[in-house]
Amino acid sequence: ELSFAKPVRHIAVVGAGYVGGPTAAVIALHNPQIRVEVLDKDQRRVRRWNSPHLPIHESGLLDIVRVTRDGASLSPRENANGQAQVTLAERVPNLFFTTDSQTSLAKADMVLLAVNTPTKTFGIGAGRATNMTTFDAAVKEVALYTRPGTVIVEKSTVPCGTAQRVRQMLDAVRPEQPFEILSNPEFLSEGSAVRNLLQPDRVLIGSAKTPSGRRAADSLASVYAAWVPRSRILEIDAWSSELAKLVSNAMLAQRISSINSISAICDRTGADVDEIAKSAGLDPRIGPQFLKAGLGFGGSCFRKDIASLTYLAESLGLPEVAHYWSQVNSMNDWQRDRFAHKVIQRMEENLVGKKIAILGFAFKKNTGDTRESLAVDVIRVLLQERPGEIAIFDPCCLSEDIMRELEPILDTTTRDRVHVYPDAYQACEQANAVVIVNDSDPFKRSPGKKSRKSSGSAVIDTSSEQETKDIHIDGSRFSYQPCQSPIC
Ligand code: NAD
Repeated sequence: ELSFAKPVRHIAVVGAGYVGGPTAAVIALHNPQIRVEVLDKDQRRVRRWNSPHLPIHESGLLDIVRVTRDGASLSPRENANGQAQVTLAERVPNLFFTTDSQTSLAKADMVLLAVNTPTKTFGIGAGRATNMTTFDAAVKEVALYTRPGTVIVEKSTVPCGTAQRVRQMLDAVRPEQPFEILSNPEFLSEGSAVRNLLQPDRVLIGSAKTPSGRRAADSLASVYAAWVPRSRILEIDAWSSELAKLVSNAMLAQRISSINSISAICDRTGADVDEIAKSAGLDPRIGPQFLKAGLGFGGSCFRKDIASLTYLAESLGLPEVAHYWSQVNSMNDWQRDRFAHKVIQRMEENLVGKKIAILGFAFKKNTGDTRESLAVDVIRVLLQERPGEIAIFDPCCLSEDIMRELEPILDTTTRDRVHVYPDAYQACEQANAVVIVNDSDPFKRSPGKKSRKSSGSAVIDTSSEQETKDIHIDGSRFSYQPCQSPIC
């Protein structure tokens, strides 16, 4: 019998995306004895991972990649508390990015599947169920090329019961050959991915309740134990692990929708939603996190994971549960539209010919990820009012990514009115209104030497803090007019 507990020497990570890339880099950093190969079908993405210009903007990631991919040595730096961080000494490279999946899979004794699992857009369960086409295709490649005894790990967020399905798929292609399937969902948050990976709150490893399932879980646990305290590594069953990931995201999103629903009440009554959130958050049973009223949640995870939970409840014959969770997404849609109309109201219902600057385009601050950005929906509503120009700036996003996200909402009459600028300064020049969609740090830093006062622009901050009177945008100061609405 093959032992799944043998030391791991070669890990293949399928999918060099926001999860696969940083996860592979941190595993490689802390396990110099393991060769980590990250595979992607996207040649351009792999080229960028092999260049100084990584395809993902995450603080600290380039340093780790330089050490693990290039064998570079980095001198110690001081962190904010004045403590020297670990010196990253010169070493033999053990992180590789490639498109050659066949060779990498054939050598691997553990495969992490970190491919995208979006929501289905058509067919049964459209809008709720997970589209498993990409994931299933990756499993088929794994089934074809890996050696028997390989441990296969679901890193992607997948519907409950997927481990069982993966086993059936492997059995169909490679009958009678042993494989172990683990669930190891990722909890990193874009914008703080490296910090989350280096200091995870918990690592979940779900396995089959069999001796070989437990041994496989132990071998993955030993990879994490190189830097994660054992008390934070939870070995549970695969179903619970798959469901725990959906529940975490659903509950975080639920808090955002909850406080946003209260912001609508505040809007009608004049109550201050930030004060209310602060007061509620001081109760240790509630806590302050994720209680900031604003535009709502965007991005590729919360919406789809709630949709997946909703679909699971429906499939299990629990319509009340499905309805309960679907309301979290409905409230988010409603809040986003409410905000977009607030901007129009604030401009006295007349945007014709006016320049509107949009600061922040990514779905949240400090990431370049433009997927499912709420800025797209806000811009869609604003464009219907025929503004002269929508001027966009985000310090973390590539112009081509922004334009690709916007493409579906543009037509011949609107395309030449939308521009992406290389700095906030140019985007805001002569703007009639500045809408801060995400609170990326540069938008709120103190004025620099080239401070220039610009007046007459309405500044509409989706994460408004009532006490803020002035904000500073790349050195230029815009007058800020606090308004009654907590979201405007
Ligand atoms: P992503 O789209 O950034 O990356 C997925 C990558 O997989 C792409 O580069 C794609 O080209 C590649 N790919 C697809 N099929 C492949 C194949 N057969 N072989 C090789 N490469 C292939 O996705 P992501 O944001 O990294 O998310 C991956 C998974 O992790 C999803 O299930 C997501 O829900 C989950 N997740 C994401 C986050 C996040 O913050 N982005 C956090 C936790 C969990």
